[in-house]
Amino acid sequence: MFITIEKVSKTYETRSGPIRALETVDLTIREKEFVSIVGPSGCGKSTLLMLLSGLVGHSTGSITIGGTKVNAPYTDIGIVFQQDVLLEWRTILQNVMLQAEVRGLDRRTLKDRALHLLELVGLKGFEGMYPHELSGGMRQRASICRALLHSPPLLLMDEPFGALDALTRDQLNIDLLRFWQESPTTVLFITHSVSEAVFLSDRVIIMSPRPGRIEEIVDIDLPRPRRMAMREQPRFIEYSRRIGRVFESIGILREE
Ligand code: ADP
Repeated sequence: MFITIEKVSKTYETRSGPIRALETVDLTIREKEFVSIVGPSGCGKSTLLMLLSGLVGHSTGSITIGGTKVNAPYTDIGIVFQQDVLLEWRTILQNVMLQAEVRGLDRRTLKDRALHLLELVGLKGFEGMYPHELSGGMRQRASICRALLHSPPLLLMDEPFGALDALTRDQLNIDLLRFWQESPTTVLFITHSVSEAVFLSDRVIIMSPRPGRIEEIVDIDLPRPRRMAMREQPRFIEYSRRIGRVFESIGILREE
């Protein structure tokens, strides 16, 4: 297994007392698997992602990625957040190249890769522009390029498309999958959208309200490449319903 999460829990110590964010979590993820996590706000999704990055320490249990125990910041990853966190005073290319600079990697070879990645996401011709000259979707595309510049074996995405309008979001879903099929990497993707999770993933992990636990894991057995039209097919709808029913059973979705 590429990632092994064993009996991991997280309690934040705060001034007003401990906050139990994650109850015991056991999970394994295969190399190059696309896994989404869905669950209500505050159930510990971001916490789980942060524990994997090692930026936040777990309280109990162990996390192993690619044979290495995560006990300190684990750097062989790319992260994309809901906010694109581009530096406004740097061009798009310079923003993508930031990844090489902070890691002390060879800029000359990575510049070619940066240009290639930007071209793949449709940003050819925008390399020299500044973030404020781009739309929200284009900015998020650039931040995905930055996250992937050093070809990380693990990509962590925390609601990356949550702030975008529905059409842009659909387009980015398609683009992300195209990217991922061209150079597969392990992806852990947090979303509030059940249909986005089903569309993208090999497996969807459903978490319960705080303290977060894994309530159920659903294998998404749909062919790839995924097509938007699949969202209307009975199997796709059945997966979405099944996840919805889990939410109902744990009191997240109520009709009245
Ligand atoms: P989600 O991503 O599912 O919305 P989070 O992982 O952000 O959930 O948060 C889980 C719980 O942990 C929440 O109750 C949140 O308030 C709490 N929490 C998150 N980060 C911290 C922190 N740094 N200090 C204290 N509590 C935190």
